[in-house]
Amino acid sequence: MVLFLDLNSFFASVEQQLQPHLRGRPVGIIPNDCNSTCCIAASYEAKHFGIKTGCGVREAHEKCPGITLVLARPDEYIKAHHKILEAVDTIYPVQGVHSIDEMSFNLTGPDQPVSRAREIAMQLKQAIRDIAGEYLRCSIGIAPNRMLAKTASNMMKPDGLVVIERKDIPKRLHGLDITDFPGIADGIRNRLHRYGIHTTYQLCRASKPTLKRAWGGVLGEIWYHWLKGDEPHIATTKRRNCGHQHVLAPELREAEKARSVAIRLLHKAAARMRYEGFWCTKLTLNIKPVEAPSWVAYVNLEPCQDTVRLLHHLDQLWKPQPHAFIFCVGVTLGGLVKDTQTEQPLFEQDRKHTNLAHTMDKINRKHGHASIYYGAMHQAKDSAPRRIPFTTVPDLDLPDTGGMGAFKQDQPGATA
Ligand SMILES: [Mg+2]
Repeated sequence: MVLFLDLNSFFASVEQQLQPHLRGRPVGIIPNDCNSTCCIAASYEAKHFGIKTGCGVREAHEKCPGITLVLARPDEYIKAHHKILEAVDTIYPVQGVHSIDEMSFNLTGPDQPVSRAREIAMQLKQAIRDIAGEYLRCSIGIAPNRMLAKTASNMMKPDGLVVIERKDIPKRLHGLDITDFPGIADGIRNRLHRYGIHTTYQLCRASKPTLKRAWGGVLGEIWYHWLKGDEPHIATTKRRNCGHQHVLAPELREAEKARSVAIRLLHKAAARMRYEGFWCTKLTLNIKPVEAPSWVAYVNLEPCQDTVRLLHHLDQLWKPQPHAFIFCVGVTLGGLVKDTQTEQPLFEQDRKHTNLAHTMDKINRKHGHASIYYGAMHQAKDSAPRRIPFTTVPDLDLPDTGGMGAFKQDQPGATA
């Protein structure tokens, strides 16, 4: 059985936890303090008034005159996330962390019977209340596979607990709309319609070839098995790259200043990569000049964790770039291989540099980001601020890994 845990109205609940005067009140979280922005999260009390993610500030005030709009504090949400992980870890080992407010657990052996699974769920909820805060509530779904467990976690909010047992499949699902399943949004719903599938009853009865055609491939086959309560084997996607992009503030757009931002991004990405135990075999530099097409250069490498060597290669890549003014710069470490799959550096020099990099990481983790850094990034050491984490889970103890940028390439414009 899989247990899926989803925090309710996470950002807003963290604010209500930290600021007691917000408890029980409609709260919207906004990413910046201007009238053109929109809510990125809403408390349950605000949802009651129809406030959703994406709801504009003016609309929010119209729908809910008493709403309090709170400026997002990503660092606090990350801290709360780690507190929650600490809390649930006292009860059961986490199997997967899927976003800042979602995680799953594989219940095995004697923990599989429903009565025991429910007991674990209640203990997880209690541990979160005790250790992370009484205002942090979660909805838990328990089912034979993760897709159904996530679906179940959405069936009762807030503070829900829903179990879907194999013996109740598919009947238990029939009341759901097909878009209640995670991953079925407008696009795939419309495709399903074309195959005559409008209801969950029809979806559960559809043949494997039909679903394969509707999804346009193997994903349809996976859905066929998910809907039967099975967990098909899915080849796990390996982390293939790790990078950052940054839209430059106007004062950093001269090429030389942009170069120091690129160095900072490399430093961040390399620290992240080492922290996760990866080595890269490719370094890519992306440049979006002001008013000119993008410019890309890359170099293939022997497995490398060494920032000094990476900086040297970045320098080589940078030299031929012809633009005087740059709008956006990106650095990606690609072709990642795991520690266990790579040989340690052959040469004494490389070994020393790799050790140096790890030592700098430790110092930065302990004393705050950019306590120690490479001379060339001096100009830009405070650029590339932390952003709001949505789907990735940044680690607080890393030297400013860039919030939602960590491991996911930020889209140009996201940080303007
Ligand atoms: Mg949630």
